[in-house]
Amino acid sequence: MTVSLMPTYARMPVSFERGQGPWLWTTEGQRYLDAISGIAVCNLGHAHPKIAEALCDQARTLIHTSNLYGIALQEQLAERLAALSGLDNVFFSNSGAEANEAALKLARKYGHSRGISHPKVIVMENSFHGRTLFTLSATGSRKVQEGFEPLVEGFIRAPFGDGDQIEALDDPDIVAIFLEPIQGEGGIRVAPNEYLTRLRTLCDQRHWLLMFDEVQCGMGRSGRWFGFQHANIKPDVMTLAKALGNGFPIGACLARGAAAEVLTQGNHGSTFGGNPLACRAALSVIDILSDEHLVQRAASLGETIRSAFEAAFKNNPKVREVRGRGLMIGIELDAPCPELPMKALDAHILINVTAERTIRLLPPLILNDDETRHLIDTVIGVVQAHTGA
Ligand SMILES: *Cc1c(COP(=O)(O)O)cnc(C)c1O
Repeated sequence: MTVSLMPTYARMPVSFERGQGPWLWTTEGQRYLDAISGIAVCNLGHAHPKIAEALCDQARTLIHTSNLYGIALQEQLAERLAALSGLDNVFFSNSGAEANEAALKLARKYGHSRGISHPKVIVMENSFHGRTLFTLSATGSRKVQEGFEPLVEGFIRAPFGDGDQIEALDDPDIVAIFLEPIQGEGGIRVAPNEYLTRLRTLCDQRHWLLMFDEVQCGMGRSGRWFGFQHANIKPDVMTLAKALGNGFPIGACLARGAAAEVLTQGNHGSTFGGNPLACRAALSVIDILSDEHLVQRAASLGETIRSAFEAAFKNNPKVREVRGRGLMIGIELDAPCPELPMKALDAHILINVTAERTIRLLPPLILNDDETRHLIDTVIGVVQAHTGA
């Protein structure tokens, strides 16, 4: 690894130079099945011809003008996202952390507008919201925060999934609840529908904003366009990024009702955010997801894969649980397994481990039946060999 890079990442000893669909090829010409999609980013696989064509065409036409001027493609994308989610308006950024910065700034300003000078936001244990100072302060992981104190203040932490603890909080400075409907980095933990419904009711009663970080679970991966659509509720604020541009950087913060009126002229901005090239990529992603019915495909592929795993691991005492929704799949083992991604690499499949012992699969939504079978068989082989079953 070159010494000219800051050593911020523990990289696997492999580099890819080409991709197609769910496959990646190394510089040595070895082929791997990508079951992590660049961490929930390349949901349509690699080198999708329609996205490549949209990006090339837009690059030949107009890449960037700045938000000093109107951007027709940004307006079109906002309209599509609003229609799909039932939210009202959008602020565009370039990453998930930035989308969350917008959401957290919105929550603070909402508090100030209600006469609360030190607004607080309820966040969850084991959450992940990004690496900027505001978002790492919101994140429920000491590892992410350590060494960067003083953290941004104004967060109250609660256990994920526990409605009673949140209901018991009666601090008048609380203005919002911020959580992932499906925790990703936290180990693929799905918030039960009743929990989300209860949080919606609490937020309505107490005039708090319900804000969802859908950076990882959004854009079809959960088997619905957005994770919250599994419960019969709507958030006030939702953030997106990762899969929104299928690898082209773009993030979005959406808002509804009163929350949609909080950020006004001069309150927030971004040089690149929502430029024509990024918006063209995202519009193309939405077209492909709809035209090819990939959201439904994510739901059915998820069922197939999870039930195959459940059957295979039913008598393996070292596999604690298979869980997830759509194509966010976690296999929790009974012990930490940091060497598992390397073992999977030997079997030519890319997977990942989060929360120490949960094997995380985030395969692309375009897998065909043969590729799905191959994924299932390979992962089962790797896990059974690892656990000695
Ligand atoms: C990846 C992720 C982020 C951070 O996104 P970046 O684009 O890396 O800044 C935030 N929230 C969740 C849930 C994520 O999975």
